[in-house]
Amino acid sequence: MLRSTKIVATLGPASSDRQVLGRMLAAGVDVVRLNFSHGTAEDHLARARLVREVAAECGREVAIMADLQGPKIRVGKFEGGKVELQPGASFVLDARCELGDAGRAGLDYKDLTKDVRAGDVLLLDDGRLVLDVDRVAGAEIVTTVRVGGELSNNKGINRQGGGLSAPALTAKDVRDIGTAIECGADYVAVSFVRSRTDVEMARRLVATDGEKRGVRPLVIAKIERAEAIPVLAEILDAADGIMVARGDLAVEVGNAAVPALQKRMIRMAREANRLAITATQMMESMIVNPSPTRAEVSDVANAVLDGTDAVMLSAETASGRYPVEVVETMASIVLAADRSETPGLDQQFLNETFTRVDQSIAYGALFTAFHLRCAAIVALTESGSTALWMSRHDIDIPIYALTPSVTTQRRLALYRNVRPLHFSITDDRDRALAAAERLLLERSRVKPGELIVLTCGEPMGQPGGTNTLKIVSVGSFL
Ligand code: PGA
Ligand code: MN
Repeated sequence: MLRSTKIVATLGPASSDRQVLGRMLAAGVDVVRLNFSHGTAEDHLARARLVREVAAECGREVAIMADLQGPKIRVGKFEGGKVELQPGASFVLDARCELGDAGRAGLDYKDLTKDVRAGDVLLLDDGRLVLDVDRVAGAEIVTTVRVGGELSNNKGINRQGGGLSAPALTAKDVRDIGTAIECGADYVAVSFVRSRTDVEMARRLVATDGEKRGVRPLVIAKIERAEAIPVLAEILDAADGIMVARGDLAVEVGNAAVPALQKRMIRMAREANRLAITATQMMESMIVNPSPTRAEVSDVANAVLDGTDAVMLSAETASGRYPVEVVETMASIVLAADRSETPGLDQQFLNETFTRVDQSIAYGALFTAFHLRCAAIVALTESGSTALWMSRHDIDIPIYALTPSVTTQRRLALYRNVRPLHFSITDDRDRALAAAERLLLERSRVKPGELIVLTCGEPMGQPGGTNTLKIVSVGSFL
């Protein structure tokens, strides 16, 4: 069986070694994430080069996702690196403070004082520490510690309920987009997106920088701010996909709200023909342990059942002790979750409305393959859009996307249910179909004589949309 859901793994010190990375790819990593919150441009460029080299050695194409830091608001540094906050004590966030101490911390976002009012609740270090705002005076936010603990250098600050005004793209992000393009990124993920405009701005920058190098990354909007939720439909319209960024999202909306939001976000993404990635703490305990908790196993399986395109690993692969084992474990959980569902055409599929010829061929292929119980759907595609439409519904039949474009092949590594293969389309129709069959017999589980549904554009070898659906017994063109 083909694994439906893809695996995104973040690179870091634990996974930047050639051998380790090779084993991670062999274990099932489909997309490699470069986290621009850490490291220099040189680090990212070196890692991107390594990924391409190792993937080539493994005979695979993986996608590279550059994840921009965004306006994460952070406290400054402390004398001695950290302080201990006591419940009930007074603590000041001070935009002018250079080096903090037990009573005061600096701020990297100087305008925070403009966004915060008395009565607000500030959450530090992903919500581990809680501060009640008493008053704002000039450059100072005076608070009382509600939940104390250790606070170390540069920990994040969120406001409960969201509403901090920092724009999604910082000056650093704009520079980092240039680096992402230089890395040959297939995806750029934009952090703390608030609106459609944030996505459009990122897309313009990505397109302008990318044009010079012929790189055209897709744009993923990270949903991790409370104010993104009510405008999710518009963000989906502007983006190619979303990330359910549960770390910061949970801090803003409260932990308990996240599971239902995850389900709604994935459903809306699929209905809008967009991609969805589920991220953060999926296998957290495997940072230090060789096996996951029962709760983590269920979390990964449930994300698969929700219909996510990919499940993501962060610190587990970036700095954890078991970067290879965690990928193996995740892959096995996905496979078991795949087997647990009885395939069917969902109501949403039956309710689809469409006017495009290529889209109707894509849905026709799904419908036909499901009812004839075909061994595979095979899409000859240049841009990958037929594969995208097909992949939004789970009928438990693998979709092989045969494409002459390496860019498309890499992008498709993230798409649920899709297995991309490289293929040179010639304009001789019979020769092209025979080549497609040979490729399938070599590189897929499809056997001679099995029935497949094949989609392509005719005449072949010319740019233009998919307009043909064939029901083929494999081998008939050989
Ligand atoms: P991050 O994004 O790890 O870059 O913060 C993911 C999240 O917030 O969940
Ligand atoms: Mn985040």
